[in-house]
Amino acid sequence: MSVYADQLKASITKYCAKIGTDPLLVQGAGGNVSWKDKDTLWVKASGTWLADAMEKDIFVPVDLQHLRLALGSGNFAVTPMVLGESALKPSIETLLHALMAHRVVVHLHAIEALAYLVRSGWQTDFQSRLDASIRWTSVGYKKPGADLAEAVSLALQGASGANVIFLQNHGVVVGGEDIAEVEQVLNDMTVALNTPPIYHPDKLSSLVPVSYEGKALYYPITDSDIHQLATKIDLFNRLESGWALYPDHVVFLGAHPHTYNDMEALDRALCNIDETPQLIFIKGVGAFTKQDFSSAKNAQLRCYYDVLVRQNQEHVIQTLTPQQIGELLNWDAEQYRMGLAK
Ligand SMILES: [Zn+2]
Repeated sequence: MSVYADQLKASITKYCAKIGTDPLLVQGAGGNVSWKDKDTLWVKASGTWLADAMEKDIFVPVDLQHLRLALGSGNFAVTPMVLGESALKPSIETLLHALMAHRVVVHLHAIEALAYLVRSGWQTDFQSRLDASIRWTSVGYKKPGADLAEAVSLALQGASGANVIFLQNHGVVVGGEDIAEVEQVLNDMTVALNTPPIYHPDKLSSLVPVSYEGKALYYPITDSDIHQLATKIDLFNRLESGWALYPDHVVFLGAHPHTYNDMEALDRALCNIDETPQLIFIKGVGAFTKQDFSSAKNAQLRCYYDVLVRQNQEHVIQTLTPQQIGELLNWDAEQYRMGLAK
């Protein structure tokens, strides 16, 4: 690698580690970053965490020329070719990075944008709130992978010079010449779209584990804000009516929430099912998980909370359809990513 490429890699690695610890920008293994060095696209590997960028090798080199040729001929189902010996698989969203002409590309499920992107009519808000430095285009919801890549390719053809693509019910892609440029755009966007949460942490009575057949089965979530999803009635109603909002939420937390009106309802339900859910919400009480609920799932749950507390009563939420949910849950690449989840 040239000195410039080395410096670029160092600045990107540092930036990834920084944003990786900001739950309003990155949640668990979500989000990915890439840079282009001649004919190589270095992209975050599937299942790895941006937060680990300084400690681990999270990037995998793929053949950029090969991807561009395939995408140019309309082959959006192309499998990226990994260069060298890496045992890691490139991100599911690698094609988005290849489609952007920019040297550095960052794709995030950034909360301040996502809180809008799950609503009807978000485009009108973005037109009034974002200034000219953000040259954006957008695509409707598409399953990540080939479908999303095709939609993004089409959107970019009609928007030369775009440095931001908003993905409905999903997130944002930002391109720039270097990290400083990307960071500036992301900061401007976050400030312009900032929505104060409608609830603030409040004091909860201390929750105890939920026992079943004499043994503790569910433990209260340690992030105490999350209990508001069960204790605030409008959040609980949103949870029941608007669960499936974006791909990672469904992939990590399932197609629907497990909600119970009270402890008795939970007891009755537990008697009647073979496989008890990992995450449950008890109305007016709180949110509980089994002990093996992973950090990746906890991060997704926090993401969902952060999106919901930015909605007011008037906002109309657009959920994924049962068909879109099915496409996400039966997808091999996602199952590989879930296998790596820690
Ligand atoms: Zn994504």
